Amino acid sequence: MSTNHRLNPNQTITLSEFPTTAHQFHDDRESAEVEFRALRDELIEYQRRLYADGTRKLLVVLQAMDAGGKDGTIRRVFKGVNPQGVQVTSFKVPTRHELARDFLWRIHKAVPAKGMIGVFNRSHYEDVLVVRVHDIVPEEIWRPRYAHINAFEKTLAESGTTILKFYLHISSDEQKQRFQARLDEPDKNWKFSLDDLEKRKLWDDYAAAIEEMISKTTTPWAPWYVVPADQKWYRNLAVGRVLVDTLKTLDPQYPKPEQDFSGVIIE
Ligand code: AMP
Ligand code: MG
Repeated sequence: MSTNHRLNPNQTITLSEFPTTAHQFHDDRESAEVEFRALRDELIEYQRRLYADGTRKLLVVLQAMDAGGKDGTIRRVFKGVNPQGVQVTSFKVPTRHELARDFLWRIHKAVPAKGMIGVFNRSHYEDVLVVRVHDIVPEEIWRPRYAHINAFEKTLAESGTTILKFYLHISSDEQKQRFQARLDEPDKNWKFSLDDLEKRKLWDDYAAAIEEMISKTTTPWAPWYVVPADQKWYRNLAVGRVLVDTLKTLDPQYPKPEQDFSGVIIE
């Protein structure tokens, strides 16, 4: 496993072999937070360039078990980034309107435009996860979706979209504690639902679906990162690092003025 948690294509994975804790990667919360804040400043600057450059797009896909930290990652990693350049889309249970189309229809409408960072809080991957585990559609419908997804993401990549997919990996114990906090703290009650407990009972089925999803859809053009997410400070650092490293490679530039402004005087 690479230190940035990126997976290789054609790798069959077992989720339980992936660490959910930071221990072996980072042992000091304080220095991690210092590093993270510096990275976030870099992200803020790179986003400005990406927007000004206006040629490329970045798509960040977040998946996790319930309470895995998708919302918190968005809140923390993108704090201070110009909201005009970031479009967050949260995918909920599809509406009747959405269900009347193919599963990628609502997704395709939300992909980032040139210069934008798009963030998916859940995504088309729900259509091979929740849909599979709860038998919402039969296997002959969801199984071909891995190929549909890979082709779709290739289309995006070939039209200038860099795709980063993060699976925020928490342990079952950590999920239990976070659910408990949602029950105990009045300000968090709204996040709790009894459905979450039904899904928790199906943890192993979800894990199997996630393993196959990651194995089948890690491609050279749209890799998965399996990020240890029990410690929020490490999760933020790991995601922030991948974003900044990726933007560094893209190296967006402020456009040069098309005219020579050197003699211009503003009266
Ligand atoms: P939350 O992220 O807590 O707001 O919950 C959103 C809910 O929508 C989750 O229970 C997801 O499993 C569900 N959901 C998202 N996409 C789909 C989908 N394509 N089919 C069925 N349920 C979905
Ligand atoms: Mg929820």
